Amino acid sequence: MTQYVFVTGGVVSSLGKGIVVASVGRMLKNRGASIAVMKLDPYLNVDPGTMSPYQHGEVFVTGDGSETDLDLGHYERFIDVELTAVSNVTAGQIYSDVIARERNGRYLGGTIQTVPHVTNLIKERIHQLADESGADVAVIEVGGTVGDIEGLPFLEAIRQMRNDVGRDNATYVHLTLLPHLGSTGELKTKPTQHSVQALRGIGIQPDAIICRSDYEVDLGLREKISLYCDVPTEAVIGLETLDTVYAVPLSLEEQGFGDFLANRLGISRPADLSDWSKMVTKLRDPKRTVRVAIVGKYVELPDSYLSVIEALRHAALANDCEVAIDWIKAEDIEEHGADHVLGRASGVVVPGGFGERGVEGMVSAARYARERGIPYLGLCLGMQVMVIEYARSVLGLEDANSAEFDPNSENKVIAYLPGQQELGTTGGTMRLGLYPCSLTPGTIAAQAYGVESIDERHRHRYELNNDFRDQLNESGLISSGTAPDGSLVEISEVEGHPFMVGSQFHPEFASRPDRPHPLFREFVGAAVETLREGAQHELPLADSEDDPAPPSSEMVAGTGISS
Ligand code: GLN
Repeated sequence: MTQYVFVTGGVVSSLGKGIVVASVGRMLKNRGASIAVMKLDPYLNVDPGTMSPYQHGEVFVTGDGSETDLDLGHYERFIDVELTAVSNVTAGQIYSDVIARERNGRYLGGTIQTVPHVTNLIKERIHQLADESGADVAVIEVGGTVGDIEGLPFLEAIRQMRNDVGRDNATYVHLTLLPHLGSTGELKTKPTQHSVQALRGIGIQPDAIICRSDYEVDLGLREKISLYCDVPTEAVIGLETLDTVYAVPLSLEEQGFGDFLANRLGISRPADLSDWSKMVTKLRDPKRTVRVAIVGKYVELPDSYLSVIEALRHAALANDCEVAIDWIKAEDIEEHGADHVLGRASGVVVPGGFGERGVEGMVSAARYARERGIPYLGLCLGMQVMVIEYARSVLGLEDANSAEFDPNSENKVIAYLPGQQELGTTGGTMRLGLYPCSLTPGTIAAQAYGVESIDERHRHRYELNNDFRDQLNESGLISSGTAPDGSLVEISEVEGHPFMVGSQFHPEFASRPDRPHPLFREFVGAAVETLREGAQHELPLADSEDDPAPPSSEMVAGTGISS
């Protein structure tokens, strides 16, 4: 029978609940348990697919084509599981389901209420996860913060779960913040006490409390929280801000949280942490730093590119280096020129995106990388701008563009190809999820993967226009991967360039700390080579070595994830 660990958050949002859930999953998996994992999101959107990255960060795409919360990316990377639509439940899904059932007469004339109808549906989804996965442990994250109005039905549902599945089979973990008062140099426990009171008011007594803090949480503080919140001292855990999110499972283990959980869940096998520890040790001791520019629309909010950052970090690990990221707003390239903004980068990534803003800057970035032999990795939109740039500069098609950005262009080298997906701008209408791709032998992409065919995750509407395919191939922009029947170009690369590869899919979602994605691995490898050679930068670097980027582009070394 599946056991449940429910994780709630208190005091403030953005404490890293997703990382804690992912870490709990990893810690239990390290003890041989099979894990299912779920995020309950109290917002009313059906999924985050229609939300702006500024609102919600990255949309994480699962293999089955669900557009989900970015926390599912943490779960996949930490626990090394492939998730599906079942693992992300939103209030929007629950309410639309309740209303559809009511319209279909399923409630036989009853009055439909939050309790029990909405809560029952939430519990149904949790049971569905357990039944379909048959996992030993289901780790369930409730999004938002205790006290949010929209979170109440979810908290009520998980409260009821304890009675439904038996008291010993449900464990409640509450994550809070201990703020630091500079004037007195103290960590304060009162917000945690209030948050636990609020949780108890709903009927949930936490079994463990994890306290996020920027400072060490000493025994005295843990005893105080234990006293006020009725949780054993060994179940009050301090979680200091760490240099890498991958160290969180180790920190929780060190404090005995893994053993505490295993004990409650009746898991007797000891934890095998050796591989994970080795990975973190290597991550902390890079041999060199390679600078990569990410040129995008939403760079003020790096969470918009969370999986890209993580995939770069995994690839860096495999190349014995760390990646320092120059965040480049695509519009800054339009304003200041690619040489000025990209001058110090040994590699350029143009990630996914929608809409016209900044596209010309991305095209300039692609031109810069192509002309100077700087490694370039194009992810979905990044592949499309690479094609647009090539068509303009090499084929001489001056107005080449995507139908998305210039429907009046004579040369729509990126176009909507009928039959791929419904053309629409609303939710769930894109080409989504895993599709197969056959690799062209002898190409950089085929060498990177080392296999003949692959399956990769998609999220887009437009494709390389087959009317231009031969022309592009013949002039040196080769199709290194296509749909198995040859109907769609999935990967393009510039022949003779050290590494200029663009994929119509999003390889970043499949990267794992111990299994970097082949395209990212080779891209970072090529960037390391560029760094060694140095001489690739033919044009003078920007004004000064110390501050070559214009003021609006912020440099984040290595990490940059708050989570
Ligand atoms: N906007 C482009 C399309 O819809 C690219 C999408 C993306 O980068 N995910 O095809």
